[in-house]
Amino acid sequence: MTTSGSALDKSKPNMPLSGLSNDGYSKDDVATATCYCGAVQLEFPSEAPGLLDTFVCNCFDCYKITASMFASNFIVDDHYLKHNRGKENLTSFRQNHTIARLNSTTGERYHMTNCFCKTCGTLMYRVPEAFRGQSILRIGTVDDFSLMEKKLKPKREQFVNSRIGWLKGVEGAKKSERLDEDTLASAGGVGVQ
Ligand SMILES: [Zn+2]
Ligand SMILES: [Zn+2]
Repeated sequence: MTTSGSALDKSKPNMPLSGLSNDGYSKDDVATATCYCGAVQLEFPSEAPGLLDTFVCNCFDCYKITASMFASNFIVDDHYLKHNRGKENLTSFRQNHTIARLNSTTGERYHMTNCFCKTCGTLMYRVPEAFRGQSILRIGTVDDFSLMEKKLKPKREQFVNSRIGWLKGVEGAKKSERLDEDTLASAGGVGVQ
């Protein structure tokens, strides 16, 4: 397979050198996401019903958690998520100080748990207390880069008001200033700050 220049066929799997592992795969309805050092590898659903949502978030929480200016995410139903290896090599950090969504029963903010590779620090997924049974994976950890162009292309973009000024946003994505509650409800999606 070629990965060079304009001849690149984005309908075929495209697995460029990105990190230390080289055993990622992409099939009809599942594919892999692997951390930078290769210790942790997930198999996730690349289609419904296991794939629930794809979105970009520009909130300030996502600035910090990505060490960048936005997060590109996809949400999966945990029943369809497998740890191919490295579950024991994940560590987690949770907080609720910056999470906007409130538990209507307790009045407290919901927690968000972040699961990282202990060795290389790649954030593999976030686990939202507000939406049990779902995990928020990171599009950038996916091994087949062709999926980012199509199946995992963000359908929504949220917190557009805090998008950094020199980025223009996701072409064709449904925009919202805060959480997109309607879409979230229908997708079973998650409310990150
Ligand atoms: Zn790693
Ligand atoms: Zn965010």
